[in-house]
Amino acid sequence: MKYIVLMGAPGAGKGTQAKLLEKRLGLPQVATGDLFRHNLNNQTELGKLAQTYMDKGNLVPDEVTVAMVRQRLSQPDCANGAILDGFPRTLAQAEALDALLAEFNGRINAVPFIHVETSVLIERLLKRAEIEGRADDNAETIRNRMNVYQHQTAPLLDFYRNRGLLKEIDGDQSIEAVQETLRQTIESA
Ligand code: ADP
Repeated sequence: MKYIVLMGAPGAGKGTQAKLLEKRLGLPQVATGDLFRHNLNNQTELGKLAQTYMDKGNLVPDEVTVAMVRQRLSQPDCANGAILDGFPRTLAQAEALDALLAEFNGRINAVPFIHVETSVLIERLLKRAEIEGRADDNAETIRNRMNVYQHQTAPLLDFYRNRGLLKEIDGDQSIEAVQETLRQTIESA
């Protein structure tokens, strides 16, 4: 079993890299943002609840998010592990993930952190807003998501660094170059 936790601020390229890694490692990408958006498109109760938070760029409450991840990681295609993208995003979620993986007799193998300067991130997100028209990619929400990231998610970097799991990667390179570095990092973990 192999669990990879991809860390990085909004716009760092986690989703793009996770999709490429999925093929390489033969492990599914488990992206909480995508799971919430899927629920939203299908107008499930979970989707309607998540929307009220996502629209403002706030985090969906931990218990809701953890329950969703537990269900996803229990599915047969995750039997050999998963690439986690966008989870955990709070210390409480990180602790819940440890407990969950202990139940599955698994553990986190590596935590690659895709590092990109804030100014570059904001530029990328504004561009994505134009191209994809994602509801939460507008200037105000982007600012809030960055704030939420700094306050609630960035402390996780030390949490994983202290355990020797964090591997910093320069995310301001081509998609292919980031992928290559990521692959090497995971292989040597
Ligand atoms: P981003 O590009 O901001 O990283 P995501 O697609 O990962 O976007 O997430 C979009 C939104 O979904 C977040 O702003 C948040 O509202 C919600 N979300 C995603 N993952 C989590 C999580 N682990 N905990 C709480 N909320 C989450």
